[in-house]
Amino acid sequence: MSKSKGDSAQSDIHVSRMTAAPGDPWLSVHSIAEYAFCPRAGLIAYENRRTDEEEEVPSLYTLPQYEMHAIESGIHERWQRLRKWVWLIALSAGLSVAGTVFRQYALLAIFPVAMGICTVQAANIASEMFALYRRLDLAEQSRCAEPNPASDQIQPVNWFGMLHLGFDSIRLQEPLPDSTWYFTGRPWRILRRGSLYIPVYQTHSAVEKLSDSQKTKIVAYCRLCELTYGENSSPYGIVLTGDDHSGFAVPNHPSFRKRFHDSLVELRHLAILSDQHLESDVPFDSRKCAHCPLAKPRQVSWGRQIQRLGAPVAVNPVGENHRGLLHCDCGDRFRWRPAYTGE
Ligand code: SF4
Repeated sequence: MSKSKGDSAQSDIHVSRMTAAPGDPWLSVHSIAEYAFCPRAGLIAYENRRTDEEEEVPSLYTLPQYEMHAIESGIHERWQRLRKWVWLIALSAGLSVAGTVFRQYALLAIFPVAMGICTVQAANIASEMFALYRRLDLAEQSRCAEPNPASDQIQPVNWFGMLHLGFDSIRLQEPLPDSTWYFTGRPWRILRRGSLYIPVYQTHSAVEKLSDSQKTKIVAYCRLCELTYGENSSPYGIVLTGDDHSGFAVPNHPSFRKRFHDSLVELRHLAILSDQHLESDVPFDSRKCAHCPLAKPRQVSWGRQIQRLGAPVAVNPVGENHRGLLHCDCGDRFRWRPAYTGE
């Protein structure tokens, strides 16, 4: 367990409280950011081993949209497929003419089916190409000012604008570890140019102002990048908001790091107690429950339960509808009924 706040001189206290002791639990960036939102949310994320990857909404819509070379090769690949289907349409038409001339009625019977299949396929491909061309156009038009690495202010950015400034986009295969503070996380992308390694993550809601949780998460990624790629390699991190490729550059500045440091230390302490069944009242702010996903009721019959110490937590019903009993993650874990009011 980490040393107490009373250790040594003031500067030593700051360093020592961050450093984990052997045997302390590893935390995910996701759980630390959840703690910054609400301590109960942070503990649930820790106990369920939730990570950043789970935050990424799996997309059923698989068209490339963030790397320009991927968009361009997606268009090229669809042109080739479209050409093939157009040839098949022409062949079907030719066979139908031959069937008419030579009175081969079997060919005439096949014609509408073949033509229908080929036309539907070609139309789907054309529609995807149209979407890709629009994306490429947006990507080529987008511009943004390069964030000032010395600034302590949040600055607006744009994903494609950053690519136009010469940054490359990297996808990490594995999470980055901090073996001193015992936490780990994998940013959605890293923008690299020269010695700069800028972590990026995406939220799926359009926001005008970043939350404490979002700022906590991005400076945590900055710390992991600087440990991996070198000091001063991540003077800021980027949070993309919504689906329009715009977002904010958050300075890796002490004023933004404090919340991250506090959350990490407090969650580590809480996690140690929880692992030993010793945590008592976990604080929370009831005003946040109204829109918290962990308070959102769902049917008990769906059977999805949170875990604690590797075992499912018993359901604690918070209501009922015509399909049966309702429960929620926070209600189950803390045996109460959070006041959820809507999406
Ligand atoms: S429901 Fe309320 S107490 Fe529970 S995690 Fe969400 S904000 Fe915190």
